[in-house]
Amino acid sequence: MRTVYVNGQFMPENEATVSIFDRGFLMADGVYEVTSVLGGKLIDFDGHAVRLARSLGELDMRNPIAKEDLLEVHRELVRLNEIDEGLIYLQITRGSDGDRDFAFPDPETTEPTIVLFTQNKPGMADSPAAKRGAKIISIEDIRWGRRDIKTVQLLYPSMGKMMAKKAGCDDAWMVEDGMVTEGTSNNAYIVKGNKIITRHLGTEILHGITRVAVLRLAREAQMEVEERSFSIEEAQEADEAFTTSASAFVMPVVEIDGVALGEGVPGRVAMRLREIYIDEMRKAAV
Ligand code: PMP
Repeated sequence: MRTVYVNGQFMPENEATVSIFDRGFLMADGVYEVTSVLGGKLIDFDGHAVRLARSLGELDMRNPIAKEDLLEVHRELVRLNEIDEGLIYLQITRGSDGDRDFAFPDPETTEPTIVLFTQNKPGMADSPAAKRGAKIISIEDIRWGRRDIKTVQLLYPSMGKMMAKKAGCDDAWMVEDGMVTEGTSNNAYIVKGNKIITRHLGTEILHGITRVAVLRLAREAQMEVEERSFSIEEAQEADEAFTTSASAFVMPVVEIDGVALGEGVPGRVAMRLREIYIDEMRKAAV
């Protein structure tokens, strides 16, 4: 049984409770982060802590925990649950004032709810899925307009994942005004020659923590990076494609809407970036 963290306390998962009036439960009024663990250490903890603070700020939500304390909670969960490879899920909601109302409760009297738990994923770095590569379908992006805030409103991305499964594929890329925004739970990239193309930052996509690191490492490896939007048609004609996320690192894409990319196998650039990313992030893990 896992040990989880709820509002300042570590406890067995079956003893952890949250109010039925919690605004995270009633209104998806909450934000989250997912940090990966490799070799028992946290990957890019700083990046996740900074984005968490930004998400909270954008929603006028109080940050209930200092960064150093949050790091200690992460480390303690890794230790207590003996995680070598896996994920730490963190969620902060606006809490519960014991009733339901659209207006926010008074932050002076209503404490945010904070929950963290681990997900053990042995073999995450050496994933068979990455060796196969992902098959993608495209779907319309009908999410709200502030996708740069990492909220727990994940119903449409979940539906997208199910649409992909139903079509015999692994994931979906979302398209708005003819251009790819991002994957259901990852950022999207195409590769043309030595150039990596990924959508520019804005409110239309989540500013991936893995995206920052991968683009930095790509530039350091003398690859060219272009931050602009692209269409599904351009992606289908690209040499390669891939996605990035904290939970899947760099994931090659081998097919989009039934069209095989290149040879239909994971591309050279994607595989190289995956290797560099995992190596470098292991070295910098805390
Ligand atoms: N976009 C979306 C919509 C996501 O849900 C995620 C993963 N949470 C990402 C991009 C990738 O972000 P990160 O690299 O920080 O995991």
